[in-house]
Amino acid sequence: MNSNFFDYTSVPVTGTVGTPTDSDMSLIRKQALADVAPEEVFVFSVRASDQAYDSFHSRMDDSTLRNYAEDYLEGRSLLRNHEPTQIMGRSYNGEYKNGSTLASLYVVRGIKTSDIAADDYITGVRTGIFKDVSVRFHGGTQVCELCENEILSRACTHLPGKVYEIAGKERKATYGIYDARAAELSHVWKGSNSNAVSLKAAQLRALGKLDDKEIAQYNRLYGGNLRADMERVDVISILAEDLKTDESYLLRAMKIYKEVNLPYWERKDYSEEEREKAKKSGHTLPGTDAFPINNAKDVENAKHDVGRTKHDKAKVVSYINKMASEYGVSKIGEDK
Ligand SMILES: [Zn+2]
Repeated sequence: MNSNFFDYTSVPVTGTVGTPTDSDMSLIRKQALADVAPEEVFVFSVRASDQAYDSFHSRMDDSTLRNYAEDYLEGRSLLRNHEPTQIMGRSYNGEYKNGSTLASLYVVRGIKTSDIAADDYITGVRTGIFKDVSVRFHGGTQVCELCENEILSRACTHLPGKVYEIAGKERKATYGIYDARAAELSHVWKGSNSNAVSLKAAQLRALGKLDDKEIAQYNRLYGGNLRADMERVDVISILAEDLKTDESYLLRAMKIYKEVNLPYWERKDYSEEEREKAKKSGHTLPGTDAFPINNAKDVENAKHDVGRTKHDKAKVVSYINKMASEYGVSKIGEDK
């Protein structure tokens, strides 16, 4: 099943930065095949994770934080943006301390193992340009704190972040992550742990348990777009386990999945008349009938569909930005 989830913290660098101590060196040497000199490496420590709720309403349980510490002591890659090709260094120590996991990392000076040279990366870390970190984790269980079922099980009908009334009290749905393991550690421009939430929203929608109002609420809560999020997640795989018990459920999910993968003007909420109207008023990509835009919502949808256009991307972007000005919405890249 889906094993790539991300655990993000924006409170990163802590402790030693720069030259390794003798005890750092003895741990670094355990990672290396041949001897390493202290001058060869740059070390720093980050707070890799803690127990705070993130913006997607999940929190790491102590069991996970202690596992992370073991994993970073054992040695995990230090990457940028969770890209396997962007190896910057390696962890050599991990420590669980007061509800946080600290990871110690080393970078070898003077080499180039990614798009940027190690020395440039070191300067970036030292000066605080590379700051926010995120753990890619696997395994473990993600448990809803309202109903104590696994968050992606059908038994749980709660969308993280949404407030439910339970026994006369308002409670926000949150979830905990138990006994997960760290796969790597990355510097990221902006982290998130949205995957489980997107999956949950997609699943609830497929089950008919998320109406239009709630979809709008989801988009507001997460500053996102459920349709776009559903394109990112493999809805079919989370729903496949239900085929055995409920075939219509899977068929419905496939229909939604197919629909969200269509460009907005081919989705059922976009009519032929709207398309004609746009064409007549010159609100299509110049010289074509692609990207019809009649209102602000179309602009938003068009922005999400830029990635798959077969037309000249620069022209599409400039056209959409022109429409964005006309309908008073943010241009591409201006979204918060
Ligand atoms: Zn639940």
